[in-house]
Amino acid sequence: MLHRIYKPGRYLCAWADKYGIEGEGFAPLSMPGHHFITKAALEAVPEMRAWLGPEAELLTWTYCGFPDMNWHAYGHYQAACEHHPEVRYPDTRREWEIPRYCDYNDLTKSGEWFGHTYPDAALAAGKHYRRVCAAGRQRRSRDAVRLLGAMLHYLEDCGAPPHAIGLGGPLHLPAENIRTPERITIAGYRPRPIFDPAEATKRVYDFAVPRAHCIVRRLEKDPAADVLDLQLECANACAEVAADALAAFHRQFASSLRFRSRPARRGVELLYNGNFMQPDDEAYCPAGWVMKWWDRKDRNVVLERRNNGQTCFVMAENVVAPVACMLTWTRALRVHPGEVYAFSAKLAADDVSDKCGLYAEMYDGATCKVGEWHVAAPASTRWRQVAGRITVPERAALMRVGVAAQDTAGPVRFTSLSLMRQ
Ligand SMILES: [Zn+2]
Repeated sequence: MLHRIYKPGRYLCAWADKYGIEGEGFAPLSMPGHHFITKAALEAVPEMRAWLGPEAELLTWTYCGFPDMNWHAYGHYQAACEHHPEVRYPDTRREWEIPRYCDYNDLTKSGEWFGHTYPDAALAAGKHYRRVCAAGRQRRSRDAVRLLGAMLHYLEDCGAPPHAIGLGGPLHLPAENIRTPERITIAGYRPRPIFDPAEATKRVYDFAVPRAHCIVRRLEKDPAADVLDLQLECANACAEVAADALAAFHRQFASSLRFRSRPARRGVELLYNGNFMQPDDEAYCPAGWVMKWWDRKDRNVVLERRNNGQTCFVMAENVVAPVACMLTWTRALRVHPGEVYAFSAKLAADDVSDKCGLYAEMYDGATCKVGEWHVAAPASTRWRQVAGRITVPERAALMRVGVAAQDTAGPVRFTSLSLMRQ
């Protein structure tokens, strides 16, 4: 059982620690295939990497996993499985607003669901490529790259051996899991800047089917058989068509899309739903915000949005390790070093530790943390204003603000968050 050897690391999936990746917004899947295929594809299109800048890292470690992180299990306590012990999943689905990018909400069942095997995955790749191009034409550069990630996922699924032949059961995992994903490479491949999703998905599917049958024959004889050679051939075939897609996207949009960010306007409210009135698809979380639990094995901690009929607030109770309610990544502020922001909220709590109050994290463009900011709030049975000034540190390009608590029985209540550039 894998969960016996699981050690809590930075990410939900332990394999990621081995590769030294460190973005706070990275969300590695249970198996590394998609990420390393995307990485190999990007390496074959260096002009794409240069153009995207830090977004290339997010495309590799987060966006190409979107369709596999769209389950509403994210943010909730889950029983042990073959990948994890009993643990609360980080709320990746909400923090990247994945239902919007996949056009499917797993909780409300709104939108359109696609399976991850051929031909369903091929239809999904086609639909998402049309959405990539639409976002590109509307100059929504970051949305276009996130949609491109979802598209790449479905494209890569078409050529994944167990997905190509719809192999379920106990052989799915050994057929899929690539032991040495860092060996996926298409060095020397010259991408064609033409991409037709129907043709590309069919090509990798046709390539994978005979190899998948061969993998099954080997695994049926011996479940521990070495199938790496065939897995790598299929993964490399996927990386080639993924590189074509990247080259085509670059050719079509390099002259019109930009990834620089303009400074925020001064003196205007920058937060959406700072009074937490609007619930997300589950009432415990305010729309545009996401909960973060530092100890995802703690079952007793409470962190949720409440509505008492007069006020909507976020409440923290039974808190030991830190918890926070923060802006989603898609709403993170694009900031520049030296800028000053005024941040405030209201807090009510009979008793608080000095670690309860306003909180902010700053990151570089690829979501690696470069700074933290905190202002403690005094205890007060009535709603009381807490305020502070944030000066954006060197290297910061992104900032997420929120409220945090630690080491308090609580309850601690927060509402009326406001952020303005000075
Ligand atoms: Zn998938």
